[in-house]
Amino acid sequence: MTVDGSDETGATGGPATLPGAPTAPGAANGESVLLEVRHLVQEFPIRNAGGVKGGMLQAVSDVSFTLRAGEALGIVGETGSGKSTLARSVIQAPPPRSGEVIFDGVDLTKLRRRQLGPLRRHVQMVFQDPYSSLDPKWRVKDIVAEPLVAYEAGDRRQRQARVDELLDLVGLDPETYGARRPGQLSGGQAQRVAIARAIALHPQLVICDEPVSSLDVLVQAQVLNLFEKLRQELALAYLFIAHDLALVKQVSDRVIVLYLGKVCELGPSDGLYAEPLHPYTLALLKSIPDTDPTIRRARTKEVISGELPSPLDPPSGCRFRTRCPRAQARCAEEVPVLRPLRKDHFVACHFPLHERGGGAVGAAGTAVALGEASA
Ligand code: SF4
Repeated sequence: MTVDGSDETGATGGPATLPGAPTAPGAANGESVLLEVRHLVQEFPIRNAGGVKGGMLQAVSDVSFTLRAGEALGIVGETGSGKSTLARSVIQAPPPRSGEVIFDGVDLTKLRRRQLGPLRRHVQMVFQDPYSSLDPKWRVKDIVAEPLVAYEAGDRRQRQARVDELLDLVGLDPETYGARRPGQLSGGQAQRVAIARAIALHPQLVICDEPVSSLDVLVQAQVLNLFEKLRQELALAYLFIAHDLALVKQVSDRVIVLYLGKVCELGPSDGLYAEPLHPYTLALLKSIPDTDPTIRRARTKEVISGELPSPLDPPSGCRFRTRCPRAQARCAEEVPVLRPLRKDHFVACHFPLHERGGGAVGAAGTAVALGEASA
């Protein structure tokens, strides 16, 4: 079954099934779809030094997925893969060039700018660098109270109580930290403040854009634990963006792997980490320190080389083909369509790594030894 129906130009004939939508676990369990992204394309004009427009850069190319209420969906890819652009397109900052973003039944792409204001109550962002997202002159308690004041949530006393509650929730003692300013906090503490502010208005969705990348490893683990705890306690849904598959593993039910703006693979975390289907996913897994046995099992002798091609001039056919050790002639001629290979597990590759029961297979089911195919 084709799930994406896109052609080489990104034009679509409409999906039969969006990845993770009606056939996904959770949907079958009666969990509601909170966010549905359909055929999202984001482009930016290219200008030369003189400011003259010279074509368009397609940063996100025909991406579709769904996110259920309370679900955590990881989005992974190298710098330049389009993951942050995708996240910002979801919140219409800026609106995508084409496609639909349906949040809680409302297509955000159809709303005017001022109609998007109330969205902030329901969708919040946490950024990579907490210090740059916090006003250095403000005290912690005022930073956390800011969205409550902006949306006139409760009176002054109620807001103070809510700020204390939020600081407690993120593991900061209000007495100790409420009067501090961002410069008096460690990176982990500052990110906790940013998280407290993000959840102040009881959002349904928090978009986390590399939220632990700037923290040291020990603090990363603590903040990831906090994200997971808050998800359990507050039924939050996350779009969790990272360049490192290891980071999203801990907090994601499912994972999307992006390469040059296109989805390579989308699947449940357990399956994707244990038995990746796309050579690029495998390459990302190989870059993880060799400590996790479930990931170690998925590793092979295949290696990735070369630089990410320019999104201004992506390779024909499969965009990964210039770095793929399995590439064949077909890969240069035909754009691989995102298709389900297992239950809820989708891949865009003519020669995916595994089929049910293990073993590498060609698209027609012909066995291909790993590393045998060459560019
Ligand atoms: Fe792309 Fe071909 Fe490699 Fe699959 S085998 S990732 S289609 S280049």
